[in-house]
Amino acid sequence: MAQIQLLSSTLSNQIAAGEVIERPASIVKELVENAIDAQATQIDIAVKDAGISAIQVTDNGSGIANDEVELAFQPHATSKIHSNNDLFNVKTLGFRGEALASIAAVAKVQLITSTTGLRGTLIKIAGGKQLQKRLVAAAKGTSITVTDLFYNTPARLKYLKTVSTELNRIIDIVDRLALAHPQIAFTLVNEQRNLIRTSGNGKLQQTIAGIYGRKTAAQMVEIQQNTSDFQVEGFISLPQQTRANRQYMSLLINGRYIINFPLMKAVLAGYGSKLMVGRYPVAVVQIQMDPLLVDVNVHPTKREVRLSKEEQLATLIQQTIAAKLSQLNLIPDAVNNL
Ligand code: ADP
Ligand code: MG
Repeated sequence: MAQIQLLSSTLSNQIAAGEVIERPASIVKELVENAIDAQATQIDIAVKDAGISAIQVTDNGSGIANDEVELAFQPHATSKIHSNNDLFNVKTLGFRGEALASIAAVAKVQLITSTTGLRGTLIKIAGGKQLQKRLVAAAKGTSITVTDLFYNTPARLKYLKTVSTELNRIIDIVDRLALAHPQIAFTLVNEQRNLIRTSGNGKLQQTIAGIYGRKTAAQMVEIQQNTSDFQVEGFISLPQQTRANRQYMSLLINGRYIINFPLMKAVLAGYGSKLMVGRYPVAVVQIQMDPLLVDVNVHPTKREVRLSKEEQLATLIQQTIAAKLSQLNLIPDAVNNL
C-alpha cells in the first residue's frame, strides 16, 4: 500500500493557517490589512475576550462582488497580484491570498459585504465548510465577524497567552497600522471599552496623539527628507522624552509596519550620545520607496522584509534625525517652547 497521500484540503488549510494565524492579533492584522487594501477610510474593530471569543472588523471599502465571495475564501485566491512580475512589485499589504482561507479553517466566520451599499452578500463558514450564503441588505464595504478561534484545533487554543497579553498584541498591531495610515479613521473597542480612536484626517501628528496621547505627540518634532530613492518623514521625540523600551518606535515602509534591526539601529544612531543608556525614543518614521526595492515575500506575516538599498536608507534615517536634533540644539528656545 502507498505510504504517501495527499492531505485533505481541510487539513492542509489548517496546517497552512498555522503560518499566518498564530493568535487573535494575527487575525486582526490580516482583516485590517484587507480593509486598507480595499481603500477603506473608516475601519472599526471590536473584540471580545481579546479576540479569542470574537473579532469583528468593519470597513467602508470596495466590498466583494456576490459571485466572488466564495473564491475569496479559497487558498491562494487574491485580487491583488496576477503575474510573476507583480510579486516583485507589491503595492498592496496582502497578496498571498491566504488569510481568509486560513481564518475560515480555524474559526467560525460570518462575512457581510456589498460593493454598492444596497444589496450585499452574507456568507457563513466554519472550519472551512460553507454553511450559508444569501443576499442581504448591507452598507457598502465589508464586515467580517470571527468567533470561536481555534475551536477545532485545541492545541493552538492552549498555546494562547492570557487575555491581557493577547489584547496588548491587538492594541500594538492596530497602533502600528493606524500610524501607517493617518488618512484612515480607526477605532478599536474591547467589550464596549474604547481603546483606540484616530481621526483619519491625514495628519500624522494627530494620529500619534490618538495613539500615544496629546502630550507625547505635542512634544515630538517633525522630520522630513527626500532623495531620489526614498521619502522619509515622521515625528520623533526629543532625547529627554524617552521610554524604557523600543515598543514606541515604528518603521513604516509603503504603509506596512516592518521589523528591521539595522533601520532601528539607524534611528537610535541618529540620537547618538544624546540618549541615556537603556532609554528609547518615541519615533514614527514613514518611508516611501519603490516597491521594486522591497521584497515582502520573505515571511508569511510579511513583518520582515528584504530591502535592496538598506544601507543607504539606514544612513539617510540616521542623518535626518541627527540633523534635526542638532538644529534644535542650536536654538534651545525652540525646545523650551515646545
Ligand atoms: P490577500 O489579501 O492576500 O489577497 P485574503 O485571503 O486576505 O488574501 O483575501 C482574499 C481576497 O478577498 C482579496 O484579494 C480581496 O479581493 C478580497 N477581500 C478580502 N477582504 C476584503 C475587504 N475587507 N474588502 C474587499 N475585498 C476583500
Ligand atoms: Mg489579505
